[in-house]
Amino acid sequence: MKKFTRRSLLARAIPASLLNLSGLSAAIQNASSPYRRPRLKITDVRTAVVRAHGLQLHVRIYTDQGLYGHGEGTDAVAGGVPLVNSFRFLLMGQDPLNVDALFERIRTAGIFAGAQAGQYVAALSAVEIALWDLAGKALGLPVWQLLGGRMRDRIRLYCDSQTNQPDDPGAREKIQQMLDLGFTAVKIDIDDANDPNRWDRVNWTASNAEIDNMVRKVRFMRESLPPRVDLAVDMHGRYDVVTAKRVARELEPFRLLWLEEPVPPENVDAMREVRASTSTPICCGENLFLRHGFREVLEKRAADIVMPDLQKCGGLLEGRKIADMAHTYYVPVAPHCVVSPIGTMASCHVCAAIPNFLILEWHWLSRLQLWRDFVREGDIIEKGFIRVPERPGLGVEMNEEAARKAQAPGTSWFGA
Ligand code: MG
Repeated sequence: MKKFTRRSLLARAIPASLLNLSGLSAAIQNASSPYRRPRLKITDVRTAVVRAHGLQLHVRIYTDQGLYGHGEGTDAVAGGVPLVNSFRFLLMGQDPLNVDALFERIRTAGIFAGAQAGQYVAALSAVEIALWDLAGKALGLPVWQLLGGRMRDRIRLYCDSQTNQPDDPGAREKIQQMLDLGFTAVKIDIDDANDPNRWDRVNWTASNAEIDNMVRKVRFMRESLPPRVDLAVDMHGRYDVVTAKRVARELEPFRLLWLEEPVPPENVDAMREVRASTSTPICCGENLFLRHGFREVLEKRAADIVMPDLQKCGGLLEGRKIADMAHTYYVPVAPHCVVSPIGTMASCHVCAAIPNFLILEWHWLSRLQLWRDFVREGDIIEKGFIRVPERPGLGVEMNEEAARKAQAPGTSWFGA
């Protein structure tokens, strides 16, 4: 009688070609099973540019099975179209479900092309978001599910008010409009290049009269809003340390949600010095890129709150990674967001998935009609919150006819 050893039994059960990991993996891929993973190939990458709050770069990634993903980048995207075209050779023919691997390939391919920050990363952000939309659609799951599942089912927004002027006869009407829309937090700008008390066109050291005007604006807004509505204040990274420290100190009685970018973003020690000097919470990060841009801010405890712009800093998974880094320092995340309902909904998927989410920006008060028409789902905001969608992918689809009304002159529309 023939003797069977353990080895001979194994060899009879599994063909030799499968006795290696890649063979086994291919066999599993090819096996017919209800859990079979979709097999997709990227066949095209196309762009469109919208001018709404600044420029927005829209990217679509197409596949051999009719599915496509849609992403949006912003702010640092004036050169976005040629940059996305330069990524094409790294995307074509690839499996779009390997989102992070494609992200890393494009990022590391650009080491000598500026991939550390700026335009390169903003263009890459739009591509990454399109890949997530595509992955969600292919797998039949909302993106938040792919980012680890959701912590909350609605996302709190703050309204960038575009008003702060006690002297503006329309200001009270605008404030009432924000309250009627249901917002529970508002942001104003207090940097003013046209303040008549400003003595130099280049230097931004604020005079006493300029600081008095800043405080007047904050007091007006604070007194015009109900106490339960939070107020944040933006200085747009223009001022020097001496001004920033004085303003942060003077604003302490107003118990701000935060004071944003009181100094420029490049010198983290300067931001830390401002933060250490005041009880006003300091927020920064809309001009930082990738995890690497946030590392020093967190390590040096230079901010109370970080505000990555997910359409600019590297996309959705990079945003989740930044949030996770911040969480280890017990720092909350309030993403900067000035994009259309597509990018805003993309940000919501990250906000839903991270433990340390604070609040998300909304900046389209002055273009409400375009906001309401931009996606087929209509207005995605309900009383100052966005409900996290159950639909696959990002969960919103562009309404081409409406969006195209804001097409940037001289640009092509997804290749048309
Ligand atoms: Mg800002």
